[in-house]
Amino acid sequence: QPQIILLKEGTDTSQGKAQLLSNINAVTAVGDVVRTTLGPRGMDKLIHDDKGSVTISNDGATIMKLLDIVHPAAKILVDIAKSQDSEVGDGTTTVVLLAAEFLKEAKPFVEDGVHSQNLIRSYRTASTLAIEKVKELAVSIEGKSVEEKKGLLAKCAATTLSSKLIGGEKEFFATMVVDAVMAIGDDDRLNLIGIKKVPGGNMRDSFLVDGVAFKKTFSYAGFEQQPKKFLNPKILLLNIELELKSEKENAEIRLSDPSQYQSIVDAEWNIIYDKLDKCVESGAKVVLSRLAIGDLATQYFADRDIFCAGRVAEEDLNRVAAAAGGTVQTSVNNIIPEVLGTCEIFEEKQVGGERFNIFSGCPSGRTATIVLRGGADQFIEEAERSLHDAIMIVRRAVKNSTVVPGGGAIDMEVSKYLRQHSRTIAGKSQLFINSYAKALEVIPRQLCDNAGFDATDVLNKLRQKHAMQSGEGASYGVDINTGGIADSYANFVWEPAVVKINAINAATEAACLILSVDETVKNPKSESAQGDAAAGAMGRGRGGGRGRGMRRR
Ligand code: ADP
Ligand code: MG
Repeated sequence: QPQIILLKEGTDTSQGKAQLLSNINAVTAVGDVVRTTLGPRGMDKLIHDDKGSVTISNDGATIMKLLDIVHPAAKILVDIAKSQDSEVGDGTTTVVLLAAEFLKEAKPFVEDGVHSQNLIRSYRTASTLAIEKVKELAVSIEGKSVEEKKGLLAKCAATTLSSKLIGGEKEFFATMVVDAVMAIGDDDRLNLIGIKKVPGGNMRDSFLVDGVAFKKTFSYAGFEQQPKKFLNPKILLLNIELELKSEKENAEIRLSDPSQYQSIVDAEWNIIYDKLDKCVESGAKVVLSRLAIGDLATQYFADRDIFCAGRVAEEDLNRVAAAAGGTVQTSVNNIIPEVLGTCEIFEEKQVGGERFNIFSGCPSGRTATIVLRGGADQFIEEAERSLHDAIMIVRRAVKNSTVVPGGGAIDMEVSKYLRQHSRTIAGKSQLFINSYAKALEVIPRQLCDNAGFDATDVLNKLRQKHAMQSGEGASYGVDINTGGIADSYANFVWEPAVVKINAINAATEAACLILSVDETVKNPKSESAQGDAAAGAMGRGRGGGRGRGMRRR
């Protein structure tokens, strides 16, 4: 019998059951890494990379990104965490944990020789049923008064924040986040909410500006003579330099008469004075530019009681434009009143060791800025990430306006429903759907584990409560304060329904994807080809002509 050679020598292939099991193991291992971060009592991870920068985070997506996973199957989990982060903003740990648990539950079946397609089919059915159930259980917050709605949204934000470093001040920040989101209305641009970080001070010193705030920019002499506070000022936004230009290139000017020399020098000055006059004539009291405003201009404005700031970051300038209602100008010719913005109060304020330019009471009101204070850099950065989660959640809740009880309540209820449903199905599928239902229990179980409670005990209580015929136990979840169970609705542990729906959907898809892989082929050539290319490039770079491509004459 001649041997059939299919793949190149050195190709590494592994296939079949062993491969599938190894993938499942890898995914479970990743799940175990993020497991401990779930919930209000979850721990944080400190990750420090080869560049020596240190990140402390509780956010599933951030951790997954920084872990730098190389296992091909486990990488899928990084993707679903990322997608959950961009789709809904929260629930990133949940989605990873669910995917890992679905696969863990599938493992014994795979070992017993069940074909993955059967598992996949049942998992998909279970996921559809679960999502329908979540939708059915969700409670709408539509039709409430603004004040009431704000209160409810703050509850959602507080639930998100309770698992974070700043959880201790969750009410304080939740209100701030809701106010910020309400301020921008239904505008979709997330960057309208600015978050500025100022190290130092107390978390409680953080504050919300109903407008724009940014750090004082670099300034020249004369700046201190400018007024630092205006009521209802006109604001001029520029994208031009207001600086005296010295000739950079070796320009050559031929003069026949020495008296002409002065006119050339004057021309420079005239140009800039002309520009400055036009700014002043526009009636603006605050002049902001994305480019430099030099010392001459600074002094000139100071003499005329005008405030100016140069080199304002583009993002900040755009936000001022959106909030104050102005348009950024690229020329000072013909400034019409319509392009000037305005706000109720402009002032320069000291915040910790920094000075801030603050524009509040902006007419279009479509921006908000949160100025964050706090100790270490890592702390403020994690606080920023947490606020980002909360902002996303509130925005989602505003849009979809349905919430479900958190603390594992919704997971237990859906799990119960699936178990009940599975009894009506004949055949092996019953077992698979049952396993899927069991996997959903990982959320309450992990919440208990992380808080140091007896998970078996709490879960038994929860199962009993949820099994009640009257259905009154449907919103019972883990009580993180006492170690027992409590009504999550009554305790205001609320999550937007989309968080759960998206998590279940994404986790199921990831699990099915991994179950459907039965062979991994690693082509040795693809790796060494890359190596060659790199070596070749290096050889050429050194000019040594050692690269293989060089000798082709
Ligand atoms: P994720 O990255 O998935 O959002 P978190 O660490 O934020 O993970 O934890 C979210 C989980 O914690 C949710 O299941 C939520 O219901 C639960 N949770 C949040 N606050 C509470 C609370 N006060 N009591 C009980 N469970 C809570
Ligand atoms: Mg969260």
